[in-house]
Amino acid sequence: MDDRTFRNAMGKFATGVTVITTAINGEVRGMTANAFMSVSLDPKLILISIGEKAKMNEIIKQTGKFTVNILSEEQQDLSMLFAGQLKEKQNVTFDWVGDQPVLPNSLANIFCDVYNTHVAGDHTLYIGKVTDIYMKEGAPLLFFEGKYRNLASHANAG
Ligand code: FAD
Repeated sequence: MDDRTFRNAMGKFATGVTVITTAINGEVRGMTANAFMSVSLDPKLILISIGEKAKMNEIIKQTGKFTVNILSEEQQDLSMLFAGQLKEKQNVTFDWVGDQPVLPNSLANIFCDVYNTHVAGDHTLYIGKVTDIYMKEGAPLLFFEGKYRNLASHANAG
């Protein structure tokens, strides 16, 4: 099977969009990720998957913690920024909860300690033990067939 077929099939699975944040020596790093899922209720665990080429891998290995910021439909520019899709660098203002940076106005900030890791092919799976959660009301940013979407754009389609 060619890579395009695999990618296209995976793109049929509609997801939300997150930015993973962590800080090392007070310097914040962020990375856009939609490979995110809930894993366990007791203990409370989630999973993210990070490609071997992403710099975020090395950083999470060092910090041992990260925050999953679930983006709202108003935060597409942040998704693009932290996916390296914008030509110009931008200054982002983060909120801090203890030593953890979070993206303000996200639908949820899920604080995690690394619980387990598993290398799977060209990605590493990080299981995070959830230590705290903040939430806000709002509509989600969505990703489907390689494009950003929102709930309203499909609400009247069917
Ligand atoms: P970099 O390439 O170094 O950083 C990414 C970008 O964020 C750079 O432009 C950088 O300037 C900017 N940035 C970082 N920190 C800051 C800061 N503090 N202030 C301002 N800008 C900053 N990849 C995966 O491995 N797993 C996934 O689940 C995944 N899902 C994705 C979902 C979507 C919708 C998209 C668009 C991309 C996804 N990617 C995923 C790809 C991933 O986001 C990119 O490959 C990313 O660029 C890799 O990041 P990096 O750690 O190498 O960091």
